[in-house]
Amino acid sequence: MSRIAFIGLGIMGSPMASHLAKAGHEVLGHTLNSNAYARLEADGGKSAASVEAAVKDAEIVITMLPNHPQVEEVAFGEDGIFAHAPKGALLIDFSTIRPESSVAIAEAGAKAGIRVLDAPVSGGQGGAEEGVLSIMVGGDETDFTAATPIFEAVGKIFIHVGPHGAGQVVKAANQLVVGGTYALVAEAIVLMEALGVDAGKGLDVLAGGLAGSTILERKRKSMVAREFAPGFRIDLHHKDMGIITDAARQADVALPTAALTASLIAAGRAQGYGSLDHSALLKVIENLNGRGEQ
Ligand code: NAD
Repeated sequence: MSRIAFIGLGIMGSPMASHLAKAGHEVLGHTLNSNAYARLEADGGKSAASVEAAVKDAEIVITMLPNHPQVEEVAFGEDGIFAHAPKGALLIDFSTIRPESSVAIAEAGAKAGIRVLDAPVSGGQGGAEEGVLSIMVGGDETDFTAATPIFEAVGKIFIHVGPHGAGQVVKAANQLVVGGTYALVAEAIVLMEALGVDAGKGLDVLAGGLAGSTILERKRKSMVAREFAPGFRIDLHHKDMGIITDAARQADVALPTAALTASLIAAGRAQGYGSLDHSALLKVIENLNGRGEQ
């Protein structure tokens, strides 16, 4: 069992920290939304007033933050991890950020004597609550092996996919498939409803056939019912589509469906849906067809 500092107790971080505390680790959490501390404390963890207080005796430091500016602030800041975590500690960044930021954080960590893994996750809020996330890990194999008990507490599948930043590349590929799938499921719902077919029954059939997916399994009922509480916010998926399109440009590859999906998600933000779940892409497709709320 390890002494863990957990920074960022949001939709994903809060249940993940609770799983680690329940597994018997000593978890000291720090976050900006202090309403999350009650759950961590109820599950056996403790709260810390600052990043410094959380990390100063930690063997493992975990970050689960929105994007690279927050991870960089928490890693590099005066109050931050590299200034205050003990030498030899392992930083596991579960956040989804651009691959080059993960590489830069790992390089700075090496100078500060802190080992670093990028370990973005997939599985959504449901996967985090159930402790069954898929985790794609970039960094040194020995650090991956050392982190196994952490991954076991929050995930079901965890794979070492390559060097620093490789986890983020795989996560970008994941977000491309997820975003594109939501767009197509949204179009399928609009098509069926426009032709007078019960979309709920239609998606029940799709879910069991070749078109089946975790998105259809977990989200088809809430989409048909137009329930869009997050979940995973459109704003965060917009950030991820930026990571994907930047990576495609760097790699000199054309990804036309990624570009279209990025535009649909950007339209969702522009239409005021940024804080809704990404399944609210359905509203974007409805609006395109003059079928949205008037
Ligand atoms: P969230 O906004 O719910 O949580 C982020 C948390 O970070 C908040 O609690 C906030 O208070 C905290 N925070 C921000 N800046 C901080 C700072 N400087 N110091 C301490 N705490 C700080 O976001 P989320 O949905 O939990 O997502 C977190 C990350 O996981 C993102 O990178 C997201 O892309 C990724 N992700 C999310 C999901 C999902 O379904 N929500 C799924 C997979 C991956």
